[in-house]
Amino acid sequence: MEKIKVMWFQAGGCTGCTISLLNSSSIKIKNLLLDEIVPGKIVCLIFQPTIMAESGEKVIKVMKGEEEKGDFFLVVEGAIPTKNNGIYGKVGEKTFLENILELGEKANGVICIGSCSSFGGIPKGSPNPTGCMSVKEIFEERNINKQVINVPGCPPHPDWFLGTITKIILGQDLKLDELNRPIDFYGKLIHENCPRRPFFDKGFFAKSLSEEGCLYLLGCKGPFTYADCPLRQWNGGTNWCIKNNSPCFGCTEPEFIDKNLPFFKRKNLEKIGE
Ligand code: SF4
Ligand code: SF4
Repeated sequence: MEKIKVMWFQAGGCTGCTISLLNSSSIKIKNLLLDEIVPGKIVCLIFQPTIMAESGEKVIKVMKGEEEKGDFFLVVEGAIPTKNNGIYGKVGEKTFLENILELGEKANGVICIGSCSSFGGIPKGSPNPTGCMSVKEIFEERNINKQVINVPGCPPHPDWFLGTITKIILGQDLKLDELNRPIDFYGKLIHENCPRRPFFDKGFFAKSLSEEGCLYLLGCKGPFTYADCPLRQWNGGTNWCIKNNSPCFGCTEPEFIDKNLPFFKRKNLEKIGE
């Protein structure tokens, strides 16, 4: 049995990405851990602060030991504080920043789960007191030549992460967009597949959240947001933001959060030429 080791590092975030993944319903995290998706290969979560049984020195030793061997994939959840040498977050006596740089250089690959590690997300929102940055920004600033796969969302759909890591394990071609997001999940605008699109095309707009009609005037960011939520839906395919009468807030985009605020205010459509 081949073990694919995954080190899951949590930096500045809310743990929502872990919770979303643990709530997966189509394929489940256990399927990946138990050889039920890729025969002959199991994913071994060697470090995951939310669910590992041990804590303290013991697990830091494991982390450091695996770092020495260098045979692991690094998953990063949360943005990285960089102000004042990153003193605002530490694991094992080192700042998140130091850990990410050291682990990132040695890892076989880096996957950023969620909008915080992918683009900065909410921790990077104005006034960003701790100087939070995304992993890609940090690597680029320091000329670290390591590809980062971004799986954004606040939180991301569990399928987006599980599908991405499964493709990597299978050695399948993972096509990425210009923001390093897998095209399989982020290839189309929400607006392209939205069931309310006929309302938009006819200029029939809802004036309140409970009304029928397109939610664009109520702040929907679907015309600017790439993700397959309308097709995949959430919670086992039962519902998603717009079906639940909420505008899309654009949680998979680098504009999330500052440039998508206020959430319920219309964003100018000139950007896509309409
Ligand atoms: S603006 Fe929003 S609600 Fe309206 S069609 Fe586009 S995605 Fe759907
Ligand atoms: S519909 Fe928009 S805000 Fe909702 S999960 Fe999808 S991308 Fe995020």
